Amino acid sequence: MFEKVALIGIGLIGSSLSHVMKREGLTKSIAVSSRSAETLKRAEELGLGNAYSLNAADAVKGADLVIVCTPVGACEQVAKTIAPNLQAGAIVTDVGSVKSSVIAQMQPHLPDSVHLVPGHPIAGTEYSGPDSGFAALFENRWCVLTPDKATDKAATAKLKLFWENCGSHVEIMDAHHHDLVLAITSHLPHLIAYNIVGTANELETDTRSEVIKFSASGFCDFTRIAASDPTMWRDVFIHNKDAVLEILGRFSEDLSSLQRAIRRGDGDYLFDLFSRTRDIRRSIIEIGQDVEAPNFGRDETEE
Ligand code: NAP
Repeated sequence: MFEKVALIGIGLIGSSLSHVMKREGLTKSIAVSSRSAETLKRAEELGLGNAYSLNAADAVKGADLVIVCTPVGACEQVAKTIAPNLQAGAIVTDVGSVKSSVIAQMQPHLPDSVHLVPGHPIAGTEYSGPDSGFAALFENRWCVLTPDKATDKAATAKLKLFWENCGSHVEIMDAHHHDLVLAITSHLPHLIAYNIVGTANELETDTRSEVIKFSASGFCDFTRIAASDPTMWRDVFIHNKDAVLEILGRFSEDLSSLQRAIRRGDGDYLFDLFSRTRDIRRSIIEIGQDVEAPNFGRDETEE
């Protein structure tokens, strides 16, 4: 599909893209750029590209697709750095978990001759760095593209096909709507997980050891999410502030209702809510976004 793809940032998402592009033969060559010499060296050892550079501006020379795979807070600096060396007609995209902020950070610095088509693969793990990537990461997952009305239709169509070749289903969406939807489906759950694990960490040493010991009772699932990359998630909350605060307001109201129901012994309220939430889990399994196996399909013998 492409002559040369430049991956700016080579962590979980960048390295997964490298693996899947090679498996599917989506480009003739891959140029990899990372901020630190250490990560770049590791990417080279893993054979993730054909050329390696600490300077993102060098990596994008002659690329017809540039994919920015850094934390969202770095996008403005990356756009400024790569802008002078972008090839006319190139598609510039990203994989950031927030879209309005990325557009505001990048668009003003890019030349009119390139096509910015922002993207977000809704796929990930709690691991980061170039070793954590794998080709199947995007398989059967959604990828959201958020072009605006002025974006070149052919560029959007080509990027859509690229993600479909990576195994994803693609949805085109307005950036603001994306940020609101992701605030509830991804950002709020992470905030809750960080908060629960943080609260446990604040408890007395004795209690904390019991928290770890009895973690399988529910706490454990939150610790997986709360182990996610601190830089990435700091940037997500800072760059999706409005949507997160709006959803957090709604969440706090609903939490107060639950608190009241427990205080009043309103079992019907609790039972009704817990039945509706169970239906949501069933719908997620029905559309193939998770498996029906108990305990998320973990092998019980490993516990
Ligand atoms: P990652 O594994 O931590 O890798 C980040 C990469 O960006 C590394 O190459 C790192 O370089 C580079 N980088 C970090 N800070 C930078 C800066 N200030 N300037 C330039 N480069 C910088 O991250 P990831 O999980 O792949 O996430 C990358 C993007 O994908 C984020 O925007 C995130 O929102 C989005 N995303 C993540 C997930 C997920 O589950 N992880 C899912 C969907 C989308 P060095 O290592 O050399 O410092």
